[in-house]
Amino acid sequence: MTRRVAILGSTGSIGTTALRVLSRQRERFSVTALTANVNAKLLGEQADSWLPSYVGLVSPNGSGSRPEWKNGVGALVDAATRTDVDIVLNAVVGVAGMDATLAALSAGKRVALANKETLVVAGELVAAACATSGGEIVPVDSEHSAILQCIGARGAKDVRRLIITASGGPFRQWGADRIGAATREEALNHPTWSMGRKITVDSATLANKALEVIEAHFLFGLPYDAIEVVVHPQSIVHSMVEFVDGSVLAQVGVPSMELPILYALTHPERLADSGVPRFDPVAASPLTFEPVRLDAFPALQLGIEAGRAGGLAPATFNAANEAAVALFLDGKISFAGIAHGIARALALVPPMASPTRDDLMDADRRARAIVKDSV
Ligand code: NDP
Ligand code: MG
Repeated sequence: MTRRVAILGSTGSIGTTALRVLSRQRERFSVTALTANVNAKLLGEQADSWLPSYVGLVSPNGSGSRPEWKNGVGALVDAATRTDVDIVLNAVVGVAGMDATLAALSAGKRVALANKETLVVAGELVAAACATSGGEIVPVDSEHSAILQCIGARGAKDVRRLIITASGGPFRQWGADRIGAATREEALNHPTWSMGRKITVDSATLANKALEVIEAHFLFGLPYDAIEVVVHPQSIVHSMVEFVDGSVLAQVGVPSMELPILYALTHPERLADSGVPRFDPVAASPLTFEPVRLDAFPALQLGIEAGRAGGLAPATFNAANEAAVALFLDGKISFAGIAHGIARALALVPPMASPTRDDLMDADRRARAIVKDSV
């Protein structure tokens, strides 16, 4: 029997890559639900090709929506909880994807999670939903897919340290002053990965790596002291795991999201006919590693500190970052202004232990307001 997949955010970078992967696996997987935010044209083409039983367009702005499609924010949760869905690929960008992840887990689904913001904002709630419902999260993020593949079936109990690789982004070798004045075009010019605009800017500030450290903490249950970041400009080693006996395993491959997406759908199985590009070690060489320059990339340090603080701090970090990146992309603040906005929000939103979903959303709103008010 085919496994039935819902793709939330099907019109984005991860969503379209996932449909390309699935187009090679039509006898194993069917697509029963698709959602987008505004891109009715591409969503319509996808719906005509895949004939899903559910289509959601969250914010229709103009023509293109069809009468049978569902509109409004509820469409994500609707799609994620349908009885004709086995796996929810959450490829929405930002905290907008959080409720759908929680609802899918509570409904006992597998969530193939690209939407890392869910785990950053609501890691504790995600763990609680998995524990009570039988739902499971399998990461799509390439670093976390690598770690999962290295750890294998024995789980994290033999693990001493995670070493998360970072490309370093377009400003890896720039001085701090030049980075602070970087333009939107420079920030969107990623050296190794082609991705949506928000994560591309996050990769330039290294806020993305902070989100990934927090994501790893919640996925694998390791303390922050056991999670390190190393710069690896070629993006071939997707991450490494050091075990208690000192052995280190790495997962390697070309920088493509096709394999991590497919693996999140098939884990722990592997498909023989994945169709993903083959790895050539000679063509990929040399592989190099460098320490991360925390002084030049303050958003990384702020994010890791927010993770360590826990409570509302990761949600505050995430929301401030989302708001600041949007302002940067609109030309309203400088590149340096992104980290300034994050620092301001973290200083002004007071801490709270064991927040509920509504507490987290309240912190999210306050952080966004603080960032917007400081422009
Ligand atoms: P994109 O911006 O390319 O795509 C985002 C998708 O989500 C689009 O389908 C968009 O619809 C939809 N969307 C955006 N906002 C909302 C909203 N408020 N409500 C409902 N749907 C919405 O992002 P990416 O594909 O690059 O990234 C998606 C997620 O995956 C992010 O969390 C990112 O961090 C993560 N990720 C991405 C990687 C990559 O290679 N791109 C790698 C690892 C992780 P529309 O097109 O209509 O606007
Ligand atoms: Mg990643």
